[in-house]
Amino acid sequence: MALHLYNTLSGRIEEFQPLDPRLVRMYACGPTVYDYGHIGNFRTFVAVDLLSRFLRQSGHPVRYVMNITDVDDKIIRNAARDGVTVQQYTAKYYKAFIEDSALLNIRKPEAMPHATDYIAAMGKFVSDLESKGFAYRTEDGSYYFRIAKFKGYGKLSKKDFEGMTDGARVDVDEYEKDSARDFALWKAPKPGEASWDTVIGPGRPGWHLECSVMAMDTQGETLDIHAGGEDLAFPHHENEIAQSEAATGKPFAHFWMHARFLLVEGEKMSKSLGNFYTPRDLILKGYKPSSIRYLLASVPYRNQLNFTFDGLRQAATSVERLRNFRQRLTESTFAEGAHSELQKVATDAAARMKAALDDDLNTAQAQAAIFEMVRAANIAMDAGQMNKPDVAPFLAALEKFDEIFAVLHDDDIPKMQQILEWAKTESREKDISPELLALAGNSGPSDQDVNAKIAEMEQARKAKNFAASDKLRAELASAGILVEITKDGIRWRRK
Ligand code: AMP
Ligand code: ZN
Repeated sequence: MALHLYNTLSGRIEEFQPLDPRLVRMYACGPTVYDYGHIGNFRTFVAVDLLSRFLRQSGHPVRYVMNITDVDDKIIRNAARDGVTVQQYTAKYYKAFIEDSALLNIRKPEAMPHATDYIAAMGKFVSDLESKGFAYRTEDGSYYFRIAKFKGYGKLSKKDFEGMTDGARVDVDEYEKDSARDFALWKAPKPGEASWDTVIGPGRPGWHLECSVMAMDTQGETLDIHAGGEDLAFPHHENEIAQSEAATGKPFAHFWMHARFLLVEGEKMSKSLGNFYTPRDLILKGYKPSSIRYLLASVPYRNQLNFTFDGLRQAATSVERLRNFRQRLTESTFAEGAHSELQKVATDAAARMKAALDDDLNTAQAQAAIFEMVRAANIAMDAGQMNKPDVAPFLAALEKFDEIFAVLHDDDIPKMQQILEWAKTESREKDISPELLALAGNSGPSDQDVNAKIAEMEQARKAKNFAASDKLRAELASAGILVEITKDGIRWRRK
């Protein structure tokens, strides 16, 4: 069987056929780097990563492009608020995104264009749309897309825009879900905020425009697959289609893939509900990157993934079982002898895994197939029924599994140590859990070392050098030692 994928554009599952068998062109909307990415964002990025890995495993050469949205209204506003440039503001979050992706074993896309590198091209694109009659300029120097002129408007989101008012406009990037409005392609400069000079005058690009220009510049006029989270289908992707197809007269993307939103303990993630987590937050709590990846991959991308701490702990157990199984295969001694019946268990599991992924990336079934194999093989090994020549097909099945799920290679400890270091630079020592310290192989300083530091702190306080005392206290905190200063002296305990 070949890969079958749900296509939002057609509203059904279709067999995936690349437009050019020599290269599958994939594009995903990347992060807006105005803050750290949260686990919902990474649910979508892991889903797209799984797709790109599975296409490659199925023999398709893939070129996967993910953009970096390093300019949008929020970024410009925050940069102005902090008195820094857009570039200065986003650098930290871009770096964090790259690190978090590596943490979660998300394969590096072939290209990651930054919106700020394409602003001249965006100005040129708007000018082309204007000359074709699809864009118009308003008094302040902004440009809007005239959706009444684009016949297919609504075809992705299946919204009926009959009776929409020609010329009704909206200039924010996200707007009410059901209204059709001419959307801003280009926004006139605002006093005190960043702007760029282009052939259409000064200003800043609209978010939708950014993706059209970057996708077509890096991948050509028609993509095989365009992906993103479900919230992007409308208006973002609808608007990308309108702009791109108005400019080229060709289909913009053959397949549209949308990952369903992640919930946390059954609720929408939000800072006010206190259920908002980044991968870093979870690692600080002592969860492994491999558990997070495994959990994010465990629910098929079109099903609701309800993130729970229970689920995360189960994911950790699953990864452990797989690692133990592999270790058992590589380290046990097996009887010489011929292939047994058992090797069929391995080859069947590999085949079932492929069939599950071919079925619109049914990751849950692929994981189930590997676990049934592990169970059967463990029973056989306990009974001394596995022979030396049987081992290779099992290792091969695990290898195939891990080419997609990427959790078997045990590199959690260095990754957790990296987050420990980051927490120190961000003054988040107080969030470091004892679990993380223990798992990162860092169980803390000896009592003797702590007492020596406490004595130094006492000295510093006597000399009224409170800055030095605070510094020592912070050092101890980052090593998992809580220091309490009382009127009777300094007390400490381990977190
Ligand atoms: P942003 O950085 O906000 O532009 O979002 C990056 C990607 O994450 C987009 O594809 C969003 O659709 C996706 N996304 C945002 N929140 C969630 C969520 N809770 N679950 C799944 N995907 C999400
Ligand atoms: Zn986009």
